[in-house]
Amino acid sequence: MAGTRIDFDGLIDRHLMREQRPKAVGRYYPSEIGKCIRNVWYSYNHPTEIKPELRRVFEMGNILHDFIIEVLRDTRNGDIQLLDAEMPFKLEFGEPDSKFVVSGRIDDLLLLKAGDKKVLVEVKSTKTLKYMRGPMEHHKTQLQFYMYATGVHDGVMLYIDKSTLETKSFEVAFSMDQAKRIINKFRALHKHLTAATLPAPEAKKLPDEKWMCRYCEYADKCAKDEK
Ligand code: SF4
Repeated sequence: MAGTRIDFDGLIDRHLMREQRPKAVGRYYPSEIGKCIRNVWYSYNHPTEIKPELRRVFEMGNILHDFIIEVLRDTRNGDIQLLDAEMPFKLEFGEPDSKFVVSGRIDDLLLLKAGDKKVLVEVKSTKTLKYMRGPMEHHKTQLQFYMYATGVHDGVMLYIDKSTLETKSFEVAFSMDQAKRIINKFRALHKHLTAATLPAPEAKKLPDEKWMCRYCEYADKCAKDEK
């Protein structure tokens, strides 16, 4: 083997490479609703390749999610029982002349039975739990929508530290007002996409979401209000 160099990073990147299908207007993904509406709009009109670094981050999230499933399947967990993981769902919305569908597999969601209660748990991996005092707004938004869609109104956000496997969890109370606000956001997205009008730069306007702009692949277009 002397002198043989194996490009393991290259092997990992090739292993994680997936064919990306373009998104179709009228079909939206539940995992996107926590994002900036303008960013989602751009992703339909100007799809970009997911970068290898980001694929690895997603894969790490999947690996940790599988680990949590394994933990929850342990038969020594008393009255905590895993009922479902990676739930597929489909919801239809809209007027007869303007229908749209929100569908997809929710990868990071688990349904548990805790005593006699059903609980939805959204699992997110994170670099550190040190400064985490509560769930992040865009994660809460996703969980509100999942609670609305499944009819299970007890929610928990579970964060797991990537390097220590320590966790922090936060209960999230269901709010019908917030669920309606989220559905209206899907409506607005559909309207902007079908009318080819650019939505307002949501993240820029909200103090809690401004950080998203630092990671946005459409920041240049957004700064120029480019369609
Ligand atoms: S730069 Fe910010 S406001 Fe503009 S699309 Fe990206 S996330 Fe949204």
